[in-house]
Amino acid sequence: MTKVVKFGGSSLASAEQFRKVADIIHADDARRYVVPSAPGKRFSADTKVTDMLYACYDLAAKGREGFAEAFEKIKERYTDIIDELGLDLDLTEEFNTIKACFIGKAGRDYAASRGEYLNGIVLANYLGYEFVDAGEVIFFTDSGEFDSERTQKVLGDRLKSLERAVVPGFYGSMPNDTVKTFSRGGSDITGSIVAAAVGADLYENWTDVSGFLISDPRIVKDPLPITTITYKELRELSYMGATVLHEDAIFPVRKAGIAINIKNTNAPDDPGTMIVESTSQKPPFTITGIAGKKGFTVVNIEKDMMNSELGFGRKVLEVFEKNGISFEHMPSGIDTMSIVVHQTEFEPKEQEILSGLHRNVHPDTIDIETDLALIAIVGRAMKSARGTAGRIFSALAHAHVNVKMIDQGSSELNIIVGVAEKDFEAAIKSIYEIFVVHQL
Ligand code: ASP
Repeated sequence: MTKVVKFGGSSLASAEQFRKVADIIHADDARRYVVPSAPGKRFSADTKVTDMLYACYDLAAKGREGFAEAFEKIKERYTDIIDELGLDLDLTEEFNTIKACFIGKAGRDYAASRGEYLNGIVLANYLGYEFVDAGEVIFFTDSGEFDSERTQKVLGDRLKSLERAVVPGFYGSMPNDTVKTFSRGGSDITGSIVAAAVGADLYENWTDVSGFLISDPRIVKDPLPITTITYKELRELSYMGATVLHEDAIFPVRKAGIAINIKNTNAPDDPGTMIVESTSQKPPFTITGIAGKKGFTVVNIEKDMMNSELGFGRKVLEVFEKNGISFEHMPSGIDTMSIVVHQTEFEPKEQEILSGLHRNVHPDTIDIETDLALIAIVGRAMKSARGTAGRIFSALAHAHVNVKMIDQGSSELNIIVGVAEKDFEAAIKSIYEIFVVHQL
């Protein structure tokens, strides 16, 4: 049995957190490959090391004052951990090299990557595991895409020769040997890549929450956790703004059929959330989760007999495409078609799009509605449950929320409803109530 375990920044923010992490790793012999983030916040007003590195590098690159002090502060974060853990480890050489590279303008990606790099060295020393520099085993192509083939081969070979190892998250190297990072939160991706490369049985992603919650706790009071969620459901929810795991972290493990278990470093006995390809496990509720986002605009196009006009939809979408705008949803009726887009993308292009639509499809009317929120109600059990849409409507009507749009995906995995932004919170609460609270 092999588990790959990734620990997020808050799990490794201090010596105390390092001790919890070591206890977790030692509690299960299968936890052989460890992927750390850089030290995160120790308290809410604290600064993540990654952010300190970006800021410090900017000072160096612009030759501004304060660089030396900023660099010392970063150094302190690590020396505090090393001293408190009583490790026999001296990072002076490493820090000298990094400082010289900052002054030599080695790049922001290089700068940010040192957070994980140094934390990996500290953690490997503490655990007595081998340290494997991600720059030697995780690769990007010339165009900056993750090079899955090369990585899989080199990383797989390297780790198969090691019983236990620490591979820092977040970065890899370009063909010209410079360092490149994934986007923010990218250590999740590294964990997934390592899990796929070693053919792990499970990818444990340790963070500071006990998995995904059915809804956003800032909106719903004490929402229940999700025990099991499929990759597909998770895609829908994270697209709509539920964030615990980096969106791109799903692909490598999903392809390899490896499940992800989201766990809480501060409550290791909590089961957390299992993310799986498929499951025969009956979900406790018809819905698995609710998530939503504000900031949408709908363009409603009306034209008599539109349904019989060949190429109508294509011509409409062409206008959006030409203006560089991707659409989110496209509910349609017989003589109406609505295009839902991001407000901030749409606004600057509004007049070009309107004139383009008039030219391309000669609509009877076009009407634009702004300040719309979309809510995704997601659940694999919806397929076999009757009346889900009806229940959503009655919950919303009860809460005096006017539904502006509804769109059910053909997979019957989700229903998207559009409501005015001001109704967003009330809508989510009422849906949670009807599907979860009333079902308990
Ligand atoms: N340290 C990086 C960040 O703050 C990557 C990560 O934590 O996953 O974005």
